[in-house]
Amino acid sequence: MTLRIASHIHSEWSYDGTWTLDELAHAFARRGYDALLMTEHDHGFDENRWRQYNEACAAATNGDMLVVPGIEYSDASDVVHVAVWGDLPFLGHGLPTAELLERARQLGGVTILTHPIRRDAWRLWDPLWSANLVGIEVWNRKWDGWAPSRTSLALLRSASSLLPFSGLDFHTARQFFPLAMTTDLDDPPTVDGIVSALCHGRCRSEIFGVPSARFAHGMSYAAARGVEYGRRKAARTVRYAERRLRGRSL
Ligand SMILES: [Zn+2]
Ligand SMILES: [Zn+2]
Repeated sequence: MTLRIASHIHSEWSYDGTWTLDELAHAFARRGYDALLMTEHDHGFDENRWRQYNEACAAATNGDMLVVPGIEYSDASDVVHVAVWGDLPFLGHGLPTAELLERARQLGGVTILTHPIRRDAWRLWDPLWSANLVGIEVWNRKWDGWAPSRTSLALLRSASSLLPFSGLDFHTARQFFPLAMTTDLDDPPTVDGIVSALCHGRCRSEIFGVPSARFAHGMSYAAARGVEYGRRKAARTVRYAERRLRGRSL
């Protein structure tokens, strides 16, 4: 089966989030997603809270939605952010990015560099990081807006073995957007199954089933590609979403 996964989600467990895990599970299930890749800020977490949080994610998981626990770690200067998923201990606060990535990967975690354009984090890019990264978030709904970031796509091209990720950076309803990561699983979906699929690069970033890299030139190009692919309905929905979202102060 093909799973539709919403990546980069903050709940009330993040200092700047307000949605409960249950509210998120229901709201995203209604929008056709099967799983959430959570990315709580590391602030306020320790090993004990991380364990409690894992239990809360399991409790919020139901027949329609898998809630995958994860942390978005900051470096000491809060410039570089890295999301980590997998059955790992809490890794700590303010670790140098190279050290964080190495520890996470040694423990079998999935690691992605989130929103490289925020605070110009991409300028700190060290090519050695890529050995311990699975992907780069090239389209972050909150920071990149209507299209993947060209800066982040260039970074991805320079590190050719890494996967393009798209993420909502969900804090409020403003970040609902038809971006998804998709993966094909043979077995009934589990947290371990999703983590393993991501670890092995078996995932794609899509918007309405079209690879999101095709959207590098923005939404009107996206709508055109949707029509070209015989996805007239998808294109209409993209335009509708665009109009609705433009109507709000972004
Ligand atoms: Zn972040
Ligand atoms: Zn975030």
